Amino acid sequence: MSQQPFSTLKLDSELLDNLASLGYEFMTPIQEQSLPPILAGQDVIAQGKTGSGKTAAFGLGLLAKLDTAKLQIQSLVLCPTRELADQVANEIRRLARGVPNVKVLALSGGKPFRTQAESLEFGAHIIVGTPGRIEDHLRKETLKLGSLTTLVLDEADRMLEMGFQESVENIVRQTPKARQTLLFSATYPEQIQAIAKRVMVKPIMTKVESTHDSTTIEQHFYKVEDDQQRLRAVRLLLLKHRPESTVVFCNTKREAQDIATDLRSHGFSVLALHGDLDQRDRDQTLVRFSNKSASVLVATDVAARGLDIDSLDAVINYHIARDAEMHVHRIGRTGRAGSSGKAHSFISDKEGYKVALLQDYLGRTIEGEALPQASLLNETPNKPEMETLLIEGGKKQKVRPGDILGALTGEYGIEGTQVGKIDIFDIRAYVAVHRDAVKTALKKLSEGKLKGRSFRVRVLRGHPEASQKRSYN
Ligand code: AMP
Repeated sequence: MSQQPFSTLKLDSELLDNLASLGYEFMTPIQEQSLPPILAGQDVIAQGKTGSGKTAAFGLGLLAKLDTAKLQIQSLVLCPTRELADQVANEIRRLARGVPNVKVLALSGGKPFRTQAESLEFGAHIIVGTPGRIEDHLRKETLKLGSLTTLVLDEADRMLEMGFQESVENIVRQTPKARQTLLFSATYPEQIQAIAKRVMVKPIMTKVESTHDSTTIEQHFYKVEDDQQRLRAVRLLLLKHRPESTVVFCNTKREAQDIATDLRSHGFSVLALHGDLDQRDRDQTLVRFSNKSASVLVATDVAARGLDIDSLDAVINYHIARDAEMHVHRIGRTGRAGSSGKAHSFISDKEGYKVALLQDYLGRTIEGEALPQASLLNETPNKPEMETLLIEGGKKQKVRPGDILGALTGEYGIEGTQVGKIDIFDIRAYVAVHRDAVKTALKKLSEGKLKGRSFRVRVLRGHPEASQKRSYN
């Protein structure tokens, strides 16, 4: 972590004070390298990935030059996935907390078009969205980019991987020529270089190490022979390290379900994330994992795209990733800016060639370590600290986090410190509540009113991937 404080930058005091209140004191390497040219108005290509602090790098760039007096779209951030777009929008909102009246709007697929069009009519300063949906809005003229001053391509390599090249280029064509363009990408393949050449003007290149240094991510490798040993090894590692939040990466949907079922049968609190979940179940799974109502998430690589959960303590590679870049991408989910994490990977003799490639990439020899002692298997897994309440009312019903917090902590209610993350979707809201306070919280919310109305409320306890499976049979 770099030692340059944000105060060395030419930023307004309202942005600086807010950074201090967020606990961002020193810049991360990517911020240190990219912010000076970004603030000077130059086009910048920054090679760095999720976890490096890239969102704050471009977010501060956008906010520094934003003119809130003009209610016009001044910045557009394109992201590969809905989850990432939502996260980026939220991070920009957090960064903008000290600046009055900044309107940030997320426009991604999977959400009703019409509601988005209505929000656009009210005006916005910063749009964060996925290419497909942004194109839809441009086509229907619900979105116009004539006043744009900054365009950000976030996770550009992922956007291309997901087939968004044409959309991105089409969108770029509809923005003013005299704009600042910022491109963030974990890798910098030829295809990206070609796009950069077409859409950027004399870009400044910045790069931070693509592999995390070993002080922030501890990597461990263990030799296993078959899936039986893998399952046992996952349990041993979870029982030994007792991480609060762990993602177990695997290769197929089937595998994700099997691992989740096995862990569950041994008392772990686990959810699975894979491509067969519908949008609602996917949202719920991510909400419950990120608000600490489930401690293990078993995910396929495809399903985990764009997944960015703060303070992941550990990543387990059930099977080693198909290539070295994917491995680094997976383990990059732990050891976020400034905190440390552990990555545990299982390797078998059959995967020797992948291990050899990984050794080259990481520049180190990989040797299997001993797994924790078997006696740990008799111990009881951690229970997650929180549980999630589902409220059948959301943005459409104008439910806001403050309403939920107010209803929970009012007379005879629970303590504010027992309330965790609140996530509000279009017609649903989720609030994490400390395990010991769930009963009272449920009663307060079911009997009380939000926005003068009563909503149905229940505790989310099932596991959606299993009910999906049933519905297919
Ligand atoms: P990102 O790479 O944008 O996904 O950011 C990773 C995480 O680091 C986010 O949770 C940010 O809130 C956090 N973060 C970003 N910049 C800083 C900083 N300078 N100091 C501490 N945390 C940071």
